[in-house]
Amino acid sequence: MKAAAPNPASTTSARADISFTPEPTLVHDRVIEWFEEHARTLPWREPDCTPWGVMVSEIMLQQTPVVRVLPRWQEWMRRWPRPADLAAAPVAEILRAWDRLGYPRRALRLQAAAQAMVDDHGGEVPGTADELRRLPGVGEYTAAAVACFAFNQPEVVVDTNIRRVHARAFTGHALPGKTYTSAQRRLAHDLMPATASDDGATACAWNASVMELGALICTARAPQCEVCPVADLCAWRTAGSPAPTEEQQTKGQAWAGTDRQVRGAIMAALRTSAAVPRAELLDGLALPEASAQQRSRCLDSLITDGLAAQAGDRVSLPGA
Ligand code: SF4
Repeated sequence: MKAAAPNPASTTSARADISFTPEPTLVHDRVIEWFEEHARTLPWREPDCTPWGVMVSEIMLQQTPVVRVLPRWQEWMRRWPRPADLAAAPVAEILRAWDRLGYPRRALRLQAAAQAMVDDHGGEVPGTADELRRLPGVGEYTAAAVACFAFNQPEVVVDTNIRRVHARAFTGHALPGKTYTSAQRRLAHDLMPATASDDGATACAWNASVMELGALICTARAPQCEVCPVADLCAWRTAGSPAPTEEQQTKGQAWAGTDRQVRGAIMAALRTSAAVPRAELLDGLALPEASAQQRSRCLDSLITDGLAAQAGDRVSLPGA
């Protein structure tokens, strides 16, 4: 095994006070090898999955676990296998198909992006991160992930799982904290495998592998270091697995009593009904803690977001 490498100077501010950081290429090799053996079989990872399928999966997975995304993704791809199919679909149908994935504005943004693909890209998902980034509702992460996983472009992909593995394995921190800092961004760039010799194949494999390691092994609450392929290289483990600082800890998002909960209940009711009187809809929510004011405010916000519509005193999904 190679000795620990000196750290790149540009990543110094990202690091805890530790005396060991691993050689990145060693970590790349180990994690990619682990992925080849242990990665979950997911339809959007199959070679025959279209770029559109990859893009839909990336949008759905942003706030929602794989197990809930899988059936929705399968239905989505059956009904709308190309961007043009989704662009032409009624909004109410899209929102019903989104079902309980949460954050339903993502469904509207996906349709807006599909429309832009029809208008500007011949109905295809564009193949570079720059073009993807210009689609409505597509952010830095999604653009990089789709460019990498659908088009083998060696973009730097950084999600929460990847940030956590970087923080632990390379900087010795227990957790990466809430904010994606400029130091973490530099570290992510510095850690990318070289692309010259293989057109970025290793870089793309690294993105997928380290993301999966964070999702399955190096989890936020209970990292399984005993089965981790880089346990003997990990800076956090070598430093004695220090507890997270207060700054690094992120509080779990509350659900009960929040506007998110009330909005979710309204959307669930609208998905299963035609136009319904506003008062009947709001009074019928099985949320005894939610005041009339909160119910009304949440419905108004859904209308503002384009997720619900009101005509006279009746409310429905848009166009339903
Ligand atoms: S050894 Fe533990 S903390 Fe380090 S990368 Fe592996 S799972 Fe994460």
